[in-house]
Amino acid sequence: MIKNFFIGKREEDMMGKNFIEDVLSRRTFAIISHPDAGKTTLTEKLLLFGGAIRDAGTVKAKKTGKFATSDWMEIEKQRGISVTSSVMQFDYDGFRVNILDTPGHQDFSEDTYRTLMAVDSAVMIVDSAKGIEEQTLKLFKVCRMRGIPIFTFMNKLDRQGKAPLELLAELEEVLGIESYPMNWPIGMGKEFLGIYDRFNNRVEQFRVNENERFISLNDKGEIAGDHPLKLSGLYDQTLDEIMLLNEAGNEFSAEKVASGALTPVFFGSALTNFGVQTFLESYLKFAPAPKARNSSIGEIDPLGEQFSGFVFKIQANMNPAHRDRIAFIRVCSGKFERGMTVNIPRLGKQLKLSQSTSFMAEERNTVDEAVSGDIIGLYDTGTYQIGDTLTTGKDHFQYERLPQFTPELYVKVTAKNVMKQKSFYKGIEQLVQEGAIQLFKRVSIDEYLLGAVGQLQFEVFEHRMRNEYNAEVLMERMGSKIARWVDGETVDENLSSPRSLLVRDRFDNYVFLFENDFALRWFQEKNPNVKLYNPMDQN
Ligand code: GDP
Repeated sequence: MIKNFFIGKREEDMMGKNFIEDVLSRRTFAIISHPDAGKTTLTEKLLLFGGAIRDAGTVKAKKTGKFATSDWMEIEKQRGISVTSSVMQFDYDGFRVNILDTPGHQDFSEDTYRTLMAVDSAVMIVDSAKGIEEQTLKLFKVCRMRGIPIFTFMNKLDRQGKAPLELLAELEEVLGIESYPMNWPIGMGKEFLGIYDRFNNRVEQFRVNENERFISLNDKGEIAGDHPLKLSGLYDQTLDEIMLLNEAGNEFSAEKVASGALTPVFFGSALTNFGVQTFLESYLKFAPAPKARNSSIGEIDPLGEQFSGFVFKIQANMNPAHRDRIAFIRVCSGKFERGMTVNIPRLGKQLKLSQSTSFMAEERNTVDEAVSGDIIGLYDTGTYQIGDTLTTGKDHFQYERLPQFTPELYVKVTAKNVMKQKSFYKGIEQLVQEGAIQLFKRVSIDEYLLGAVGQLQFEVFEHRMRNEYNAEVLMERMGSKIARWVDGETVDENLSSPRSLLVRDRFDNYVFLFENDFALRWFQEKNPNVKLYNPMDQN
């Protein structure tokens, strides 16, 4: 059941005429990719189309730290991550597009996963020479878990890469997702001539004058008359492959795209800005507007009158002098207005939201209004936790809990100074509750372990313990482990060993930390009755 707070004419009176149009114009997505696939380059080209930046190089400069301003936490400065580039917004063809950044590589953290909880679709960039890489796979799984639509951009066609059919096969084999190529390359690398656009019935030529760029196709799906392109054997090869796709490939289905079962695939080259606009326009056609979200009182309609949203990320220490943080809120219904009072059901408390900010590529702006699909940042002095719901009105509902992500890296943690145990425990408790890091306890020994999906989380943890709780910590690396949660009925504490360490998570659930894949398989063979599961594999 969709809960709609509208009642007849009140809708216009309460929300303004443009409210519905505003919500329906939102397209909120994240780019999932492995480092170097071209995420920054594509983002930049998209922002250029939307007029949100003037110069190519702006997003890049941020990445290398040239744009760092003085008030970001040191770790961020060193790494050149900026909060301003974590959400980018632009308008195109009547749509308002929000791109959420998903930091990767050394900045990969649970926040990267959680960002995917705040989007309505994802764009997956694949380096056509490399195919599906590790980080793409991880992020893909999270999108899968949520059933969000995925649009694929096969990048770097101006370079020699894998054969297009091989890339499609990889999507189906490695990711297990059906694909539908919206267009198909004619040649590749030095011989890249353009794309055969199945969807728009035209050929788009690479590196030609603007007036020659598009050639329309006849009823047979071919270029009519004489054209130099037809002299190339590559054109014939493309026609053969298109025939194969028409006969043996998947059918396009907007429903399957919407449920995340089928990914539309686009070929192009972000660096040379080829195929990007075609991609953007098709993406906007099929990507979903904000959808209803599950809550403790059923689904909440994004067109509903009451404002609601949830915290999906907390960025700490924007200003070291003030220990400020910014809580990132995904707006899910109603309209956010600066200065409004909201309820936080977890705390049973009301708060006035006077300091808010939206994020643009070049600068941080104060935001006065936002609707579903938009992301706002709220200054936070320690009130919010990741997953918190904010609501207005009588219904104090909570959005579904964010999933637990499986950490891959572990450390043993102790207080450096035994005299400061109290601040050590307080700091850990609060940071764990806030969602900065995951805590595990050994079963029979008094030992604390921390788990993270990326090294950055440990560094942020250490930094915040020192700066916010005055607690120096010692962290002893344990390396990567494969964590499997255990059905409590089937566990035996004696099964704990250095290669299959038994611990409890912060909700007291048992978890085995396996040294490697081999140790996991060996354990399963020896103990078939112990039921292991990975929360990230559960749909
Ligand atoms: P990110 O790590 O995913 O953000 O990747 P970047 O956008 O920084 O791109 C990584 C490298 O690949 C850079 O040197 C880019 O110039 C290059 N690159 C990106 N797109 C293309 C492309 O379409 N063709 C070629 N040849 N290089 C590209």
